[in-house]
Amino acid sequence: MHRFFIPQPYAAEMVIRDVDAKHISKVLRMQPGDKIQIVSDDGVTAIAEITSLQADGVRIQCLEKLAESHEPSVKITLAQGLAKGEKMDFIIQKAVEMGVSSIVPVAMEHSVVRLEGVKAEKKVERWQKIAEAAAKQSKRDIIPQVQPVQTVKEMLASNDLRHKIIAYECEDRLGLKTALRGCGTLQELLLIIGPEGGISEAELQQARANGAVPVSLGRRILRAETAGVVALAAILYETGDLGE
Ligand code: SAM
Repeated sequence: MHRFFIPQPYAAEMVIRDVDAKHISKVLRMQPGDKIQIVSDDGVTAIAEITSLQADGVRIQCLEKLAESHEPSVKITLAQGLAKGEKMDFIIQKAVEMGVSSIVPVAMEHSVVRLEGVKAEKKVERWQKIAEAAAKQSKRDIIPQVQPVQTVKEMLASNDLRHKIIAYECEDRLGLKTALRGCGTLQELLLIIGPEGGISEAELQQARANGAVPVSLGRRILRAETAGVVALAAILYETGDLGE
């Protein structure tokens, strides 16, 4: 069943407008009587029936609220060092499917790509659309936010979460499993992953000074686009969010 995020608070009768209304009527060619899933911006998920298709939008009647949540128990913010080209698209799509709550693109010293000003804003708009599509496909209850491109300093200041982990390719003592077990019941976590060029010594010190714990993801060097997915899978496995 198709899922649509409606930027309005939940109500028994709602109107879907703009891009989603066009998608329903012109692409999916849905008709009155057809059923969809909706998620309101106050987090209510429900099954709804299309009652009419009009020029200004698609009218729906909500039939039944859905109790089950598709969200993980831990709120993970992924701070991803800017990676080249399509890699960021891939990273954002997979992180949303996995259950990330927010994504921060980070301009790091060894990032090959440089993004500033309007170019950075346009990229974030693109990545936000990718996040929304991935959230629909994976039946998320929220659309994770892609934050504006930030420096390491800005990212650490604006994402001061209780637990912080930095996946550091030169870490050869502390593994992710031990680090996670040391966090107790994990409710929120900042996960920092470097770009293709890796994490600089200065960035590592900055992160550590803000309470981030450097961890190893094993003895192999993972690509930037692999490391975040592997770390997210391990964390969600550890919290039981991939099933018991
Ligand atoms: N340029 C680095 C090098 O050659 O050693 C590799 C960087 S790696 C492509 C990109 C990022 O993935 C790293 O900065 C780190 O955050 C993460 N990563 C990859 N392999 C890792 C590992 N074995 N342990 C911890 N983090 C890893």
